[in-house]
Amino acid sequence: MSTRRKKIYEGKAKILYEGPEPGTLIQYFKDDATPFNTEKKTILEGKGVINNRISEYFMTRLNTIGVQNHFIKRLNLREQLIRELEIIPLEVVVRNVAAGSLSQRLGLPEGQALPRSIIEFYLKDDKLGDPMVTEEHITAFNWASTQEIDDMMALSLRVNDFLSGAFGAVGITLIDFKVEFGRLWENDFARVILADEISPDSCRLWDAQTNEKLDKDRVHRDLGDVIESYAEVARRLGIMKEMPTVIQGGLH
Ligand code: ADP
Ligand code: MG
Repeated sequence: MSTRRKKIYEGKAKILYEGPEPGTLIQYFKDDATPFNTEKKTILEGKGVINNRISEYFMTRLNTIGVQNHFIKRLNLREQLIRELEIIPLEVVVRNVAAGSLSQRLGLPEGQALPRSIIEFYLKDDKLGDPMVTEEHITAFNWASTQEIDDMMALSLRVNDFLSGAFGAVGITLIDFKVEFGRLWENDFARVILADEISPDSCRLWDAQTNEKLDKDRVHRDLGDVIESYAEVARRLGIMKEMPTVIQGGLH
């Protein structure tokens, strides 16, 4: 990794660097910051690599079915070149099956299929704990326009259909996932474009046969376990078949 590059932003899972051309950024995928089991450190080091590849896989395919997104190309194990967007400060969550905060708030048993896919909006604000917001809040505070909300909902449902199919085909149930969107300005027009990442960090994934959790909900268990399930997701999707060897060798 070049040290001359200007760091634009460092978040919980990724770092954004200035890209080679105006309007581009380099998205660097970090590993989990909380290695509570130091013996597992080399294995833990695989997370960013796996997420970079899985996100590349889905963004590339979504592009071919007309869901425009920020992905340009993967640069190396941990980095991808992306289009710089004006990020809409919302996390868009699509749910197919009750789990997590939805189960808690509405008293729905985890694993209960929802009557239809449900879209929720959360304000991206770590200090406030990403509170849920409605369209009323979003338009009143000008976080996004009504048209942009419509675009984000339509795109999210297309992403949901695509991801549900892709995961379903390899025996994984897509319980829910989170996406972010940004604006790509062309003169006075802003197009809403899919941004950020699609990975086991942003998806709740259960094995279709056993309902075993294959995502970061496992984070409360052994971390090596978490990485193993991320690698399992990648293997099932047919990417990173070489992953176990790569992890053993240690990654940079
Ligand atoms: P956070 O902790 O804020 O979630 P991450 O570690 O996920 O941050 O780093 C990615 C950050 O980059 C996020 O804040 C996300 O909104 C932003 N981002 C994602 N894609 C783009 C893009 N194409 N252009 C500009 N910013 C982006
Ligand atoms: Mg993030």
